[in-house]
Amino acid sequence: MEFDIATFGCLVFDRATMKKHLPYPAFQKWEDTIERKTALDRSTADAIAHAMKEWAMAHGCTHYTHWFQPLNGTTAEKHESFLDRDEHDAPIMRFSGKSLIKGEPDASSFPSGGLRATFEARGYTYWDCTSPAFIQDNVLCIPTVFVAYTGEALDRKSPLLRSIDAIDRSATRMVNLLGDKQVHKVEPVVGLEQEYFLVDRDHYLKRLDLRLCGQTLFGRQAPKSQELEDHYFGHIPAKVQAFMDDLNVALWKLGIYAKTEHNEVAPNQFELAPIYGPVNIAVDQNQLIMAEIQSIARKHGLEALLHEKPFKGINGSGKHDNYSLVTDDGQNLFAPGEKPMENIRFLVFLSCFIAAVDEYAPLLRMAASTSAGNDLRLGADEAPPAVISIYLGSYLDQLLHGLLHPEDAHGSTKENHVVPPVSTLAYIPRDNTDRNRTSPMAFTGNKFEFRMLGSSMSASEVNTVLNTILAKKLDDVAIQLEGIKYIDQVRSKALTICIDLIKTHQRILFSGDGYSDQWIKQAEKRGLPHIRTVVDSYAILQDDSTIDLFEQYHIYTRKELESRQDVLYSQYEKTLEIESRTALHMITRHFLPSMVESLGKHGSALHVIGTTNAPHYLSTRVKQLGQWIDDLHEKSEKLRIDLKAVMEQSKSDHRKAALLARSTLVDDLTNVRMIVDEYEKNSSSEDYGLPTYDDILFALD
Ligand code: ADP
Ligand code: MG
Repeated sequence: MEFDIATFGCLVFDRATMKKHLPYPAFQKWEDTIERKTALDRSTADAIAHAMKEWAMAHGCTHYTHWFQPLNGTTAEKHESFLDRDEHDAPIMRFSGKSLIKGEPDASSFPSGGLRATFEARGYTYWDCTSPAFIQDNVLCIPTVFVAYTGEALDRKSPLLRSIDAIDRSATRMVNLLGDKQVHKVEPVVGLEQEYFLVDRDHYLKRLDLRLCGQTLFGRQAPKSQELEDHYFGHIPAKVQAFMDDLNVALWKLGIYAKTEHNEVAPNQFELAPIYGPVNIAVDQNQLIMAEIQSIARKHGLEALLHEKPFKGINGSGKHDNYSLVTDDGQNLFAPGEKPMENIRFLVFLSCFIAAVDEYAPLLRMAASTSAGNDLRLGADEAPPAVISIYLGSYLDQLLHGLLHPEDAHGSTKENHVVPPVSTLAYIPRDNTDRNRTSPMAFTGNKFEFRMLGSSMSASEVNTVLNTILAKKLDDVAIQLEGIKYIDQVRSKALTICIDLIKTHQRILFSGDGYSDQWIKQAEKRGLPHIRTVVDSYAILQDDSTIDLFEQYHIYTRKELESRQDVLYSQYEKTLEIESRTALHMITRHFLPSMVESLGKHGSALHVIGTTNAPHYLSTRVKQLGQWIDDLHEKSEKLRIDLKAVMEQSKSDHRKAALLARSTLVDDLTNVRMIVDEYEKNSSSEDYGLPTYDDILFALD
């Protein structure tokens, strides 16, 4: 396809398309709804639905679906045809406002954490008119929220939408208080960088662990891995380039501004970053990007792995969440401006952000890593540890130092010849972006980049938390500023508050190597929470501070939090159950028989040669194989027994089952892996019988 600008977004029913296809009053009413000025009335909804249907049919669609994001972290759809029977029994293609606005997918099998058990089994979908409808595989997809009969959220979008309202209110209030009265709206904007692996589909199909778990449960590092860093930004293999070209066409049509694509550090690892946009749309588009990556890879004989840690010993994949706030007149509230020291608004937003991240670090850690997969990534092979800290960069470090210690402002710091003294710090060069990639949360010029998020996860929870905790901190400050009469007094009071906030929360600031062991020790000394496994982070959802926060901002009710926690425990435990069953399956059906066969071969050779004449190698191998078979059998039996106990426990208590899975199955899986990996190291490719890391990771060209 030619990349003709006219075709950009041709599969999206966006603002321009709406304007073209709708009667003007209906278009205007829709715009008012987007601005949250009015609710959509029935006749406008009918007009929009009709226009949408005509447009979709012109693109070859016969079906539509309410597209939603249930708690299992995926997206869901149930296709419905436009086809209907009219009053005269004739066929007609019809799409009403009612069908656009509300759906009853009867999706009672999605996890609800018990929310629906006591009420109604049904869940309802409602149109989210702030995210545009689009066409995928000839189906008109309408982004929707998914809620229970009683109104409780059963999805990830509803809380995000509520949090967007919350941060809008609180940030606008603060901006107005600080003198910018013309600002009526503040919107969080987000850029999501997506990392993923590509592997040959033939290899993928031969490995049950890749197929069922998205990661290798067995496998040794290849003789070469990422030590030369020659894959990073390297030449993109032809097969991958062809895939990327197709991907770019698909994203182009979906109106997604795919901006950068490059090889990542690990072999076969790639990254795609679209241009940032309103958070709700960015999160939806990220789901589409993940889906497109997977389906287009298959068309090219490849398989995309979105798992956080598909291969042991090399980098895992994350999703970087670049976050900032913009006003309706286009100002970025995290832009330091030319004179950050005098930019009180910047200082307030910066210090509130720092305070929010410090105070709610466990919540952020939970939201960044809801899945078991990220546990394998965090703290390993160039991924941030599970401790949250913020890296500001030397300019802002100096600026804050100057705020806390004005007496040093003219003093000579070590870096005076590089960085101007704080008092004259009038200009932050445009290239002052972060160079510390070991930090989980880095200030990068005019936004914060949160790098903890797992690659396979929805980005909605993290942004729901960021919006809410920042809203809370801004309101805490606003309360102290309201009622002060003169703007100069407001500003000077705000500065004092900023200084206090930074003093209180400076323990969260860290500029050193976030990957080092010393940092972990120092962080623990500073009292920063280090929640090593994700399953321990779920407890925060029942903490009073969390419940108060979310209830205050109407993001989650106590009951919704309870249900979410239950779903998380259950997902964690189920993930480990699947991994355990897959490992057992591979051991019983493949590895043990393969070892026995190998033993047979070596044993016969030994028998033919005779033990006294046999080379040492042969007798050792026979002994080792016998030992591995016994060990693997024993350890896999333990895994089987522990798995049974977890499954039994999960019938009555998901939390207990998850904790049990963490304390038994994780180690059991490591133990069986160690034996199989040792076998792999010492056996011929033919005996081992599965594609190994060197096959999978160095075969794309
Ligand atoms: P890096 O790999 O250096 O982290 P990239 O250029 O790959 O950076 O990605 C940066 C992401 O941040 C992109 O999605 C970009 O659009 C986004 N971004 C840039 N400016 C802002 C901003 N002000 N607010 C939010 N996101 C932003
Ligand atoms: Mg990044």
